[in-house]
Amino acid sequence: MKILSLTCRSYRNLGEVRFEPRSGVNVIWGENAQGKTNLLEAMWLFTGGHSFRGAKDSELVQHEAAGTQLELGFYSEEREQSASLTIEGGRRHAQLNGIDLRSSNGLVGHFCAVIFSPEHISLVREGPANRRNFLDAALCQLKPGYVRLLNRYQHTLLQRNALLKDIPRHRELADTLPIWDARIVQDGTQIAAHRKQYLTRLSTAAAAVYNGLSHGKEQLGLVYLSTADDLAGALREGRERDIRQGFTGVGPHRDDMEILLDGSSARSYGSQGQKRSIVLALKLAEAAMLEETTGEKPVVLLDDVLSELDSSRQDYLLNHLSDCQVFITCCEPEQAQSLRGGGLYRVENGCVCPAR
Ligand code: ATP
Ligand code: MG
Repeated sequence: MKILSLTCRSYRNLGEVRFEPRSGVNVIWGENAQGKTNLLEAMWLFTGGHSFRGAKDSELVQHEAAGTQLELGFYSEEREQSASLTIEGGRRHAQLNGIDLRSSNGLVGHFCAVIFSPEHISLVREGPANRRNFLDAALCQLKPGYVRLLNRYQHTLLQRNALLKDIPRHRELADTLPIWDARIVQDGTQIAAHRKQYLTRLSTAAAAVYNGLSHGKEQLGLVYLSTADDLAGALREGRERDIRQGFTGVGPHRDDMEILLDGSSARSYGSQGQKRSIVLALKLAEAAMLEETTGEKPVVLLDDVLSELDSSRQDYLLNHLSDCQVFITCCEPEQAQSLRGGGLYRVENGCVCPAR
């Protein structure tokens, strides 16, 4: 998988950009607030997902502009392909190879990438929602049907929670709960099974990368923590509690992925550097899983990763990624110089120019 060209019009501070990267390492260098992360974010949108910074679509449009237009030329499945994405009036419009898609979800599985940014440390440091999102985002790229399954489950959950809130005032509504429970069980069991299966494969790959990054100092372990192995039984047993609380207390929307270093919780005991290396290991393992499934190496987007790693970890990282197309942003020209070979691009005030 390789990006051949990216065109941005009125995307955040990128007014009018045409970027033709190289196939190996591409270093995106520039001072703070010039548009480096914006450039990676624009590429990431073609995976069909939302902004990795959690931004709303309206925030992606340049101030004062009516909309933004992005075009991506990429090489995949042994041919050149193109995709376009327009965000205007709060709506997305996407095309793949000149054909209109019903929604930008239709891009999922065509252009594949993994993204690492410093904010992703929240994956280890913060609550379970971050880890569930990580698993779900990875599965969305791997299995096109997973997005639909997840959306349907979320929709059912909202309906069940609304019903739970109404039951104390209209007790007879409790008779309709089993209808929603059956749907929660059907989709929820599938979601948990997909996540567990994925995690089993991911943990082997992530442990190997972590081992390389840390020179074998610690062992990384990942465990899926399910709130209910028998979801139907757990919903039945928890019914009165759910009615009291007004929300559904068990199911994949409450599950977690435990991250262990030598058997202890990384969230509670890991150092800052260990947490960063864990996130990187998870992301690189995600790339390996994508390659295993699609037969192609995904594009790797690394935002500000160099300033966070010592030189031996940087070396391991770049060796590990030697066959991928990689985009690395950095602020220091010395860091950019240390990455010999590949392309060097300067980002300045929303413009992108080749610097060597
Ligand atoms: P850093 O090195 O600090 O990470 P960066 O080069 O990655 O900087 P970006 O995050 O890409 O910087 O942001 C560049 C600029 O884009 C910021 O000054 C920000 O205010 C601006 N910006 C963000 N959204 C919009 C928007 N919708 N319209 C115009 N400018 C925007
Ligand atoms: Mg940035």
